[in-house]
Amino acid sequence: MAKRDYYEILGVSREASEADLKKAYRKLALEYHPDRNPDDPAAEEHFKGVSEAYAVLSDAEKRRTYDRFGHQGLGGPGGMSAPDFGDLGGFTDLFNDLFGDVFSGGRTRHRRGTGQRGADLRYNLEIDLADVLEGMEATIRIPKMRVCETCSGSGARPGTGAETCDRCRGTGQVVFQQGFFRVARPCDTCGGVGEVIRDRCRDCRGAGRVEGRQTIQVKVPPGVEDGARLRLSGEGEAGISGGPPGDLYVVISVRLHPLFEREGTDLYCDVPVPFVQAALGAEVDVPTLEGRVSVTIPEGTQPGKVLRLRGKGVPPLRPRTDPAQVARMRGDLYVRVLVEVPSKLNQRQRQLLEEFAADAGTEVSPATKTFLDKLRDFFD
Ligand SMILES: [Zn+2]
Ligand SMILES: [Zn+2]
Repeated sequence: MAKRDYYEILGVSREASEADLKKAYRKLALEYHPDRNPDDPAAEEHFKGVSEAYAVLSDAEKRRTYDRFGHQGLGGPGGMSAPDFGDLGGFTDLFNDLFGDVFSGGRTRHRRGTGQRGADLRYNLEIDLADVLEGMEATIRIPKMRVCETCSGSGARPGTGAETCDRCRGTGQVVFQQGFFRVARPCDTCGGVGEVIRDRCRDCRGAGRVEGRQTIQVKVPPGVEDGARLRLSGEGEAGISGGPPGDLYVVISVRLHPLFEREGTDLYCDVPVPFVQAALGAEVDVPTLEGRVSVTIPEGTQPGKVLRLRGKGVPPLRPRTDPAQVARMRGDLYVRVLVEVPSKLNQRQRQLLEEFAADAGTEVSPATKTFLDKLRDFFD
């Protein structure tokens, strides 16, 4: 998944100061805030991107990690944490800073009858390299605030409903005199919602949601990379007082494999081959993600020789392409031959090798010759 550069999103240079970042963020957050762009998913996406970029870059440690390793560094293994959506740190403060004064401007953040959106959640899912081949389905259980079943999220006791707030007469704000100024503040009685629940649901005490655990099926696409983040829209925490739910972000980490290293869609592995087999040529077993395959090592194979097994790598990440087609786009497996020299010889083996050396006599192998030539060039 190609992610946009955080600096680019905020429209600042990589040298931007903290003040520059804050300024850029303020401007963009105000422009794309969902309250200003109701029912505009593109603006909402943009707003989230801006918030995420600012959450990372305003944190000195996360910014350093991002500068060095990019998006991978924030989501990858090794103890570095990706931006946590459950708690964006300074974000909340800045949010209040930005939008806390909207009431005096006559706008209400909570529209009548609309509750607060539930928090986004993050879940770390570890998968094996072999799962990358065809993708997988994982069943995860997460603790989260669920919609209260008794009141279906309304917070009111079944059979009753919310009533218009008497104090603010449903406007969600209370106007009072302060010196010469008339100031509007969110109504304390209804919390700015404009409605109050007189008869609260006993199971959720009026919140409309309860603590619980939920089992969720996560579809991991083939070719997924370490650090990738899957967004499950609406699977975050339930909203408050009937507000919309948050999103669930599943962060994938691919376990290190004992034999294979992955680079994009290609795999690399080392296969030790006894020196006699390398000299005489042989059929050797080579591991692949789907099991062993037999590979012919030609006579006179040198240490470090690389054999390519076409199509034995992993597929690219193409969630929108037909899976059968994606399977045909797999990378290659590169097998590096490690020639093993025996560390112990018995008497007979030693004798045979000495005979071999005598027979080889003055004969010099090509690799040795090149080396001797280089040596001569260097010293003459
Ligand atoms: Zn309830
Ligand atoms: Zn009120």
